Amino acid sequence: MSNTITEEKYKSLSWSKKQDYIQEWACICNACSHKWHYLDSVEKQIKREQTSNALMGLGMCCNPCMTTATSNANTQLEIQEAKLKSCPKCGSSNVKRTAKFFQKE
Ligand SMILES: [Zn+2]
Repeated sequence: MSNTITEEKYKSLSWSKKQDYIQEWACICNACSHKWHYLDSVEKQIKREQTSNALMGLGMCCNPCMTTATSNANTQLEIQEAKLKSCPKCGSSNVKRTAKFFQKE
């Protein structure tokens, strides 16, 4: 992509300029050299859901069924998060990640 910038350059931008960029993770598997990337927003979304589930779990502590449902949901989210960070080809978690930023259309 032509308007991709490095993390270094991104950090030097003003706050308002930063809003024009999307963060992406470029990943390289150390085991099989497979390359892939995913959006930082995907990872943030998973983290947000984990946090809201945790808060819900606190409020529902007197209901054992609800607590089980919440922890199951969190397990699913953890699997999703782990999948993002591990190699889709060989499943290795020995991965090098580099932050990339590109300008929104
Ligand atoms: Zn791999």
